[in-house]
Amino acid sequence: MTANDPPPHYRGRFAPSPTGRLHFGSLVAALGSWLLARHHAGTWLVRVEDLDPPREVPGAAQRQLDTLAAFGLVPDAPVVWQSARQDLYATALTRLLDDGSAFECRCSRSDLAAAGGIHRACVASDPVRAPAIRLRVPDGTRVAFEDGLQGAVEQQVDREVGDVVLRRADGFWAYQLAVVVDDADQGITDVVRGADLLDSTPRQILLQRALGLPTPRYLHLPLIVDAQGQKLSKSMASLPIDDDAPMPALLAAWQALGQPVERLAGIGSVSAAVQAAARGFRPDRLPKVTCMTFAASHNKPVAGAV
Ligand code: GLU
Repeated sequence: MTANDPPPHYRGRFAPSPTGRLHFGSLVAALGSWLLARHHAGTWLVRVEDLDPPREVPGAAQRQLDTLAAFGLVPDAPVVWQSARQDLYATALTRLLDDGSAFECRCSRSDLAAAGGIHRACVASDPVRAPAIRLRVPDGTRVAFEDGLQGAVEQQVDREVGDVVLRRADGFWAYQLAVVVDDADQGITDVVRGADLLDSTPRQILLQRALGLPTPRYLHLPLIVDAQGQKLSKSMASLPIDDDAPMPALLAAWQALGQPVERLAGIGSVSAAVQAAARGFRPDRLPKVTCMTFAASHNKPVAGAV
């Protein structure tokens, strides 16, 4: 890009995995990414991350899309399904194998247990096991980036993560490879998602560098946790939200994003509410915390970080 090129048009996305119904935490992430895209007069896309059949719940993807629509969150282009894009991941993997950035690894979880699960060198006990493919992370690899909300983040990737799995031993694609390939292929300029993925970002940046792909801007929204500090999707009360009565959850998600509830007061329909939300959204009010509690009984977030 030269100094005279216009800045790339903002393109954001929401990328749910179809492992169940959308819960309040995913609604906050979806609404946050949609509001930021609207605020920047950008495009908002939805990508279904359906690459892990053992964890997928039949019908969940369509149900999630229906829920987004019930909340007025409609993508600006047709939904992309990762399961239909496996050729792209295969091409990227072949490039990394060919240039020596990736390698076959037959280590099992138990082989790596002594190293805390972190792979630095192959110590496989079974030489004929089906291999995973990993990205080699050289010693001393440190990645730093500026998160749009959380500020400066850095990670010593070799010591904290180790060599990154790109394709699992069971043959399924790893999230880290697919997300990097897709964000670049879809021209995503701004990744807005929950802070549970903050520590995946350095390895995604490494992978972008290895593939010669641009690094988008990142902004990680607070993760909504329950009163016990459990991520909602992992807790018993993962609070599926009600498509037939979306207003309370919409108002709660708006507040969880640090926005004043009065802004949407008295608006009866969801479509009018999200349009008013888009007009009134102030990114500088987003809470600069990585997680927030959410009290199910009150159906509204409780202020403060955990
Ligand atoms: N599919 C991932 C999830 O549901 C999110 C991926 C992303 O936003 O990068 O947690």
